[in-house]
Parts: sequence; structure tokens; C-alpha cells
Amino acid sequence: MALTIRGYAAHSSTSALAPFNFTRRDARANDVVIDILYCGVCHSDIHQARNEWGNSLYPMVPGHEIIGRVSRVGAAVTRFKAGDMVGVGCMVDSCQHCESCAEGLEQYCDEHATLTYNGIDRHDGLPTYGGYSERIVVSDKFVLSLPETLDPKSAAPLLCAGITTYSPLRHWKIGAGHKIAVIGLGGLGHMGLKFAKAFGAEVTLFTRSPGKESEARRLGADHVVLSTDPAQMQAVSSHFDFILDTVPHQHDLNPYLATLKRDGTHVLVGLIEPLEPAVHAASLIMGRKSVVGSAIGGIAETQEMLDFCAANGIACDIEMIDIQNINGAYQRMLDSDVKYRFVIDMASLRREV
Ligand SMILES: [Zn+2]
Ligand SMILES: [Zn+2]
Repeated sequence: MALTIRGYAAHSSTSALAPFNFTRRDARANDVVIDILYCGVCHSDIHQARNEWGNSLYPMVPGHEIIGRVSRVGAAVTRFKAGDMVGVGCMVDSCQHCESCAEGLEQYCDEHATLTYNGIDRHDGLPTYGGYSERIVVSDKFVLSLPETLDPKSAAPLLCAGITTYSPLRHWKIGAGHKIAVIGLGGLGHMGLKFAKAFGAEVTLFTRSPGKESEARRLGADHVVLSTDPAQMQAVSSHFDFILDTVPHQHDLNPYLATLKRDGTHVLVGLIEPLEPAVHAASLIMGRKSVVGSAIGGIAETQEMLDFCAANGIACDIEMIDIQNINGAYQRMLDSDVKYRFVIDMASLRREV
């Protein structure tokens, strides 16, 4: 029997999020039913609620930084039991047989991973609904264990903002002896600073606004460079091994490419639109530099990241909100007025009559 669920949904690209009742499937044999306690608010929630990527399905229940407690498991589930604290990130399924899935890189599944929301379930063809809701039903392979020592509220954004920055730093083996720069100090950027510091790199923040020095240092930066100041940019010419670019809107990469050393890498994690203005090929050729991209991380790596955070005392800096304030929170995110991630206390949804 399907479950009736309360949540918040966008009904069109221009409507505010509003209360919405919908149904979820009953647990299949390998499913975990999770009572959602907290859900982080990601920039991509706004992009998709407003159809800025042109692929939105309505009504849409956003949310892919989910922490909750298992209420029930299907007959074939052995890894989880009722009462366990768990997480769900950006994906809830994938083909499970392609080369990427076999390597634990489900986010690069040849047949495309099933997204936690704004996706279509690959078994029943029904839309997926995300974490701005009281309960979710997820295949056990896509459920993460929350380490006991992590605070469940500040762990929620690790499921997207955390893994999105952890995975590329790991893939390109960033560590001691590397000079790395992070562009942007938002949900992703502040996690990039923390992880890069924890991995032993020398860390610089690029920012467009002055006055962020003490905050950046508190979060792990050794240096801050004001990217609008030509003298400061010149001072870091050919300086960095690696740039983690978290900016979610179009921006000029050329000034940053000039700050990479030979063989340096500029990785994009926040932008999915065309690169504009254009990248000058000469700035790549002269110095054998790379512009690359990276998407979240696989399920095994996401678990590794959660365990790393627990072992190293790393968490997101968050501000808690009630679900009733979600539209105001979106506006504050667009105004860069959050340090550094909103997390919805889903108890506020349960209080609604
Ligand atoms: Zn996200
Ligand atoms: Zn696959």
C-alpha cells in the first residue's frame, strides 16, 4: 500500500514552494523507509524549482541532503534496521551493471543515475520526490550510514556540498605539498576549504568581496586573494596546482587559469551552463593546463567522506530553518546571505495540521 506523505513542492517555475501531499511506493524487498529529520537546501534546489536547467518536472519536491531515522526495512535488507540514523544524497538508484556502476561511480552511470528528486524511478516509472518531506523510500544500496559522532543537523549538507568537494580533491590526490585555491565561499566553497586543509594542502580562497579574511581563515584558508584586485591576482601568477571552482553561475575562467602552475588543473563543480566568456586555448596550451569537471561522488566514496568527517571533526556550518520559511531562505541564498548552508528542521512540517 502506498504511503501518503506531506511535503513542500514547487508547482511551476514561477510559483513559491507550498504544502503538497503525495504518495510514495510501499517498501520493495530491498527498500529502506526513512523518517526525514533534516534536509539541507542546495543551490540546485533553486535552479530546478525554477526550471533554470530546462528539465524540471512538476510538482517538484526538492531536497537531496537528507538525514533521517529508519522506520522500516524491506524483507531483503540486512545492512539497516529500524532506528538506524542514515543519510540519502543526490541519487537513489542507478543501472547497477555498467562499467561506472561496477567501479562504484554510480554518479557517472551510463544509463544515468536516478536523481533523488526531479527524476523518474527506473522500476515503476513514477516521479521521484526529495527531502522537503516527512518520509522517503530508498533502495538500500543508496542509503548511507551516519556515523554516531556526527551531529545529524550539520551532517545533512555533507550529502551534496560535502561529497561534491571531497571527491575531486581525492580524485586529483590533493595533499601535503600542494597549493590549492577555492573559488567562492558558499555551501560548497566552505567545505572545500575544510577538506583541502584536512588533506594537508596549502589553501587559498579566491573571493570577489573584501572582508572575508577572518572567516576564510577560521574555515581553513591560509591565504585570501581578492580576485577583483589585479595586483593580488598578479602576485599569484603561475602559483597553484589545483583550483576548486564552486561558483554556480557563469564567470570568466581566464584570470584564474593564469594562476595555475604548469600541469595545473581547474575543476568545475558548481556550473553546468556553457563557459562564458570563452576560455582562451592559449592559456591551456601554454602550461599544459586542464579545465575539468566533477559530479558529487559514488556511494562508497560518500560513505568514506562521512567516516572521514567523523574521524576528523568536520561538519558544515549551518543555519536551521522551518520548512515554512523555505521561500525566504531561497531569496537569502540568492543574496549570498547564509553561513553557509540552510538546513530544514523537518519537525516543522510535522507541526502543520
Ligand atoms: Zn546539491
Ligand atoms: Zn550504471
